[in-house]
Amino acid sequence: HARENIRNIAIIAHVDHGKTTLVDKLLQQSGTFREHEAVQERAMDSNDLERERGITILAKNTAITYKENLINIVDTPGHADFGGEVERIMKMVDGVLLVVDAYEGCMPQTKFVLRKALEHQLTPIVVVNKIDRPAARPAEVIDEVLDLFIELGANDDQLEFPVVYASALMGTSSLDPEKQDENMEALYETIVSHIPHPTETMDEPLQFLVTLLDYNEYLGRIAVGRVNRGVIRQGQPVAVMTREGAVKQARIEKLFGFQGLKRIEIDEAGAGDIIAVAGIREINIGETIADSSKPEALPVLKIDEPTLQMTFLVNNSPFAGREGKWVTSRKLRERLFKELETDVALRVDETDSPDAFIVSGRGELHLGILIENMRREGYELQVSKPEVIIKEEDGKKQEPYERLLIDVPEESMGAVMESLGTRKAEMVNMINNGTGQVRLEFIIPARGLIGYRTQFLTLTRGYGIMNHAFDSYGPLATGVGGRHQGVLVSSETGTSTFYGMLGVEDRGILFVEPGTEIYEGMIVGEHTRDNDIIVNICKEKQLTNVRSATKDDTVKLKTPRTHSLEQALEYLNDDEYCEITPKSVRLRKKILN
Ligand code: GDP
Repeated sequence: HARENIRNIAIIAHVDHGKTTLVDKLLQQSGTFREHEAVQERAMDSNDLERERGITILAKNTAITYKENLINIVDTPGHADFGGEVERIMKMVDGVLLVVDAYEGCMPQTKFVLRKALEHQLTPIVVVNKIDRPAARPAEVIDEVLDLFIELGANDDQLEFPVVYASALMGTSSLDPEKQDENMEALYETIVSHIPHPTETMDEPLQFLVTLLDYNEYLGRIAVGRVNRGVIRQGQPVAVMTREGAVKQARIEKLFGFQGLKRIEIDEAGAGDIIAVAGIREINIGETIADSSKPEALPVLKIDEPTLQMTFLVNNSPFAGREGKWVTSRKLRERLFKELETDVALRVDETDSPDAFIVSGRGELHLGILIENMRREGYELQVSKPEVIIKEEDGKKQEPYERLLIDVPEESMGAVMESLGTRKAEMVNMINNGTGQVRLEFIIPARGLIGYRTQFLTLTRGYGIMNHAFDSYGPLATGVGGRHQGVLVSSETGTSTFYGMLGVEDRGILFVEPGTEIYEGMIVGEHTRDNDIIVNICKEKQLTNVRSATKDDTVKLKTPRTHSLEQALEYLNDDEYCEITPKSVRLRKKILN
């Protein structure tokens, strides 16, 4: 392909807005599939887990041939635990397709990725999908998108975004919201005419930046990225410039381009191509593959540091093996190390015990997804309480702090700020642009975020959005996740409802730090997981309508019956493990060897 015939784009969509269907139709109509291959593999099919959580975890490549053009489409993950990956993908493309449901409009979850795309000066195209829906309201949706672009700091060119109205379901598109054409022509044409083609030069020494990793049993580690300069050939000797500045000699054993959903072997590729390289065993994200005679490194890509760790352990509970695959330490080890081949933000360390591994990652969601995936593969295992990774600098202990971005409806702002206050968050910015949604920005010890998502969703009734990214290491914060002190004074309806009085240090059932304000929906009693959500606050046992309480007030508590993994991790004590099987998540006492 001549450089003028290549387009590299990322795709952004809220879950269920039709990204997969759209890419499927683009593939089918372009004839990129041969007939018998059609539809068998769905494009970018995200797994169940991704769907449930409303995020895509792994970026995948699709390539579409349209007339004489090659259109590379890279999927984007939608969550900030994967912020590093989003950032890297944005460096690999020249444009972005924002797919928006014609009825639901732009959902806040896509904001994070969209903001990154705009910051990288990418050229956007807005696809208003599901235009066939009777309730479609395309004009309003476009207005909302425009407002969002302004809020996210789009430049003047970006604000002139072209709009394509589509029904991925029907396989149709048009530039006119009132009348659909018969096919995806309007969308293909808009991509080709609006997204700039690569302009890098082929005449200079090779530079290829490793942006994503893939893994295959036969080929081993596969490096995916964009050729930034020059030409790369099968069999070519190259220099690999590591993140640490070392230069290693290597050879390109196999080179792949993308076609449809497949990788196809190619002999050579040039500047602007998105390709995959196999045969360099230790290759890693952010390394440059360069001309061996004139090696020049590209700027190192940022990889977010792991800030949270957990021990993963063979399930040694007496009930092990009843609900899943009985997993040996060798199998557990293999599974964890396989994960490292493609996930750069993850770290696995062995311990003195062959049965235990310390797994470090970007946050609860990041580690939680690994656990859930293993669970679905049939594994049984135990995990310990998540802990932040403390660093020692100049003899002083330092803990990780995260930058937390929150979008909440105005009415839940107070409760959210209060809850973050007890978690030692410091507000650094607040934007209220009168839309009813408020954006708050905090610096918070990573420790304070453990278990926060569940509480946050309760407080905002599911309407809040939170994203966080590593900020820096700082002094140990005091009192974060500390125990709340108080005491149970009476119990109603058996096991599930309690009245507790705060501030009396006696029998140690409900713990609330003296002076700490508590409020309905707040989860308390960190060390007593049986008494944990405050469902009602009353003064002197009278059920009056107060929202917050302090020392000596009476509260009514409720025990959640079932544990999601996220809840279980939050309630976990130091002397317990969380037992994970395909069927259940349970807390169990540690068995000491
Ligand atoms: P993704 O999560 O963004 O990949 O969304 P999918 O492509 O899986 O689509 C989610 C749901 O929306 C599926 O049930 C699709 O059949 C449906 N869908 C996708 N595109 C359209 C469309 O243009 N019109 C209608 N009515 N439904 C659509």
